[in-house]
Amino acid sequence: MITQYSGIAPKGDLILLHKLGEKLNNRSFLHINSTRAGGGVAEILQRMIPILKDLGIDARWEVIEGDEKFFDVTKKIHNSLQGNFENITDDMWRHHYEVNRANAGRLNLDADAVLIHDPQPSPLIEFRKSGKWIWRCHIDVSHPLKEVWDYLLRYCGKYDAAVFSVAKFARAMGTDEFIIPPSIDPISEKNRELANEEIIETLNKFQIPNDRPVILQVSRFDRFKDPIGVIKAYRMVKKYNDCVLVLAGSPASDDPEGDIVLKEVQDYASDDADIRILLLPPFSDKDINALQRAATVVLQKSLKEGFGLTVSEAMWKGKPVIGGATGGIPLQIIHGVTGFLVHSEEGAAFRIRQFLNNPEMAHRMGEQGREYVRTNFLITRQVRDYLSVWYAMENKGRSVLEL
Ligand code: UDP
Repeated sequence: MITQYSGIAPKGDLILLHKLGEKLNNRSFLHINSTRAGGGVAEILQRMIPILKDLGIDARWEVIEGDEKFFDVTKKIHNSLQGNFENITDDMWRHHYEVNRANAGRLNLDADAVLIHDPQPSPLIEFRKSGKWIWRCHIDVSHPLKEVWDYLLRYCGKYDAAVFSVAKFARAMGTDEFIIPPSIDPISEKNRELANEEIIETLNKFQIPNDRPVILQVSRFDRFKDPIGVIKAYRMVKKYNDCVLVLAGSPASDDPEGDIVLKEVQDYASDDADIRILLLPPFSDKDINALQRAATVVLQKSLKEGFGLTVSEAMWKGKPVIGGATGGIPLQIIHGVTGFLVHSEEGAAFRIRQFLNNPEMAHRMGEQGREYVRTNFLITRQVRDYLSVWYAMENKGRSVLEL
């Protein structure tokens, strides 16, 4: 499997991966998050576990289970860590802990390294048995609601290390901290090359016209992804350039707000036949791949974002991208080189028109984007980084010459 990345991923990453695989051979590496499908974390884990196994590591992925109340609370925690005001009562925190306690009883937490993804399963640290425990924070906690962050630190501060996606997301936590951006898998169903017929098949299935430029945003129906702002930008463009807007998303099982936001978006789009709102079932990877390849311009107009994997996915397909200047998006889009960063609906509309009216520039930026993703955001680099952190934690205090 790892050999399939030769000629695609940078050679240096592959050499290091083999070395680390030898050092950590047969050791166990457990990942825990809160959803099997939907969103970037699940997306990466699905691909990473087989790669780790192929490298000789005993990798496992477990998902915590919770009731509706639990996911309402964790959504509130999530929103407040991104700066929204939420009142999280003692009872809610207790429930958060109790659900994790039940999961600790159900799951086998024994492993040499345990990577806990995001705040939902963070209390599991209280039930640690052995090994190195690392908290992996995917969201922007640079301006959180203080009392929520302070409460969470009771758990997160106990880990051996914390990993953030982007330097500016990180906060001093009193433990070792590492910056590891997420990544995409170039050979997955989501990102592999597709034949033209496969692309057309998807367009037909969703009745998307291909006689006009297609503007696309792929994301969960979440207000932070600004789907309404995308429609507003499209309406400004539409006055001058005929085009079709596709908003594609699927519900995530850990996001209870999705249905409400979807309804808002459908109402706002009203009866415009050129706005296609696609509610995709989970694991629609090939269709998403085809939509991204069929698109003329890809948007990720987020107002708040973790990393924004969809940006790298589109760049890898050579597409010109426009992203909200937030979270990890500026890490991927170098303004004017690999795409454009925007701060408003007007800005998004302006850049969409610029791409539609300058196909050559759009093509050039798309190509630059692809190469940028190749060097920085492929999964091989991320696996390399995780294994390096684990290895470094285990060999703390030893000279590099001994390793
Ligand atoms: N995604 C998907 N189906 C959808 C919407 C999104 O498979 O209907 C995928 C998308 O292709 C990307 C991931 O989910 O791989 C979203 O990750 P991102 O970092 O953009 O946002 P998040 O949802 O984690 O906030």
